[in-house]
Amino acid sequence: MSRQEAPERVSTVVIGAGHAGLAASQVLSERSIDHVVLERGDVANSWRHERWDSLRLLTPNWQTRLPGLRYEGPDPDGYLSMAEVVELIERFAKLADAPVRTATNVTSVRRTDDGYAVTTSRGDLRCRALVIATGACNVPAVPGFSDAVPASVEQLTTFDYRSPEQLPDGGVLVVGASATGVQLAAEIRRSGRPVTLSVGEHVRLPRTYRGRDVLWWMDASGVWSERYDEVDDLERARRLPSPQLVGTPERATLDLNALQDLGVELVGRWATVRDGTALFSGGLRNVFSLADLKMQRLLGTFDDWAREQLLDAELDPPERPEPTRVPSSTRWQLDLNSGEISSVLWATGYRPDYSWLEVPVLDAKGHLIHDGGVVDSPGVYVLGLPVLRRRKSTFIHGIEDDAREVIDHLAGHLAGGR
Ligand SMILES: Cc1cc2nc3c(=O)[nH]c(=O)nc-3n(C[C@H](O)[C@H](O)[C@H](O)COP(=O)(O)OP(=O)(O)OC[C@H]3O[C@@H](n4cnc5c(N)ncnc54)[C@H](O)[C@@H]3O)c2cc1C
Repeated sequence: MSRQEAPERVSTVVIGAGHAGLAASQVLSERSIDHVVLERGDVANSWRHERWDSLRLLTPNWQTRLPGLRYEGPDPDGYLSMAEVVELIERFAKLADAPVRTATNVTSVRRTDDGYAVTTSRGDLRCRALVIATGACNVPAVPGFSDAVPASVEQLTTFDYRSPEQLPDGGVLVVGASATGVQLAAEIRRSGRPVTLSVGEHVRLPRTYRGRDVLWWMDASGVWSERYDEVDDLERARRLPSPQLVGTPERATLDLNALQDLGVELVGRWATVRDGTALFSGGLRNVFSLADLKMQRLLGTFDDWAREQLLDAELDPPERPEPTRVPSSTRWQLDLNSGEISSVLWATGYRPDYSWLEVPVLDAKGHLIHDGGVVDSPGVYVLGLPVLRRRKSTFIHGIEDDAREVIDHLAGHLAGGR
């Protein structure tokens, strides 16, 4: 009879070696809590394998802050390329001296009498506490009606897309107008292809306002630090699409007006496919007005804050962006069998993957049930989800405060105080 090896015991297991898992590791080490960080690929795996070639961060370099690490390069107002982000996160892992085990896929987590059993592709572990830092963007979220798109049209998600050369010749229908959708619509249009962009609810922001990066305003005015328990409609805040921003040396604004100037055709939200025809919602005018209104309100908040801080003299005058232009005519449908569209690029967002989690902590929609990162099972925590504890929770510079507070709770749990 073969004797089974006893599972390794460690007080805390962190799953995921992106910036969130590494920040957790740094804070755990500061508190001398023994732990391991399990990573199915390499450190910064998502940035290495799940992003397109031309992507740059939309957050400026000066905003790149991780516990114990600040951007100190020559271009504080620039935006990191993917290679630079990977380098940054690798540097952070070294600096934090994080006990990362790469190529270690977590395939199941179950409850035990005194904690959790973690099964991985490289053996089993037992722990008393668990930090889920597997990311908010593990799988592309694609609507079910994609099945009805004719087979003659190639379909890609933003996980598959790397550059325009990869697409077949002909028209491209980009679906979704968040940061990803607008960036890819612009890139593909510039490569010479006809591009149609399907636009639903979106968040419009100018790249700069009154001479400063709009994310400087978000940061300095405190909007980005608003806490999850202060946000009016948390459910909604957690579902908001990413803002229409791109990081370029010119600090160019990439809104729907800029896309129309490039020759991108705008259509409404893609509602369904009937007999090979894509049907789009009407009411683009309303969708645009809503996004414009919210942007104007936010810029108004910034102006109020600047006035209170007596900053008006240092800043440019408050010039507001033009309203989004409504095209003179918009198509409501598009025959996908006509040959006009040869590929569809789904930029419809992402969702986390918890298929390995065998602890009953998911709601009916598959979302983790948690209160500010404290999951509904003793000793389980999560980091890196939208508005986890603050509006900036999913961003690189948003992790430090969240990690400290969540690990504080975890330390209390291990000490038997919670
Ligand atoms: C297209 C895009 C652009 C973005 N741009 C910016 C930006 O400009 N600025 C900014 O601050 N933020 C940006 N973000 C948001 C955020 O910084 C990233 O999503 C970041 O990758 C999140 O870090 P994370 O550590 O939470 O998750 P991830 O970086 O996704 O790390 C999770 C890790 O967990 C691992 N993992 C998952 N499941 C398992 C498992 N079962 N077993 C073992 N390991 C597992 C993965 O391999 C991965 O390495 C962007 C996000 C996207 C998608």
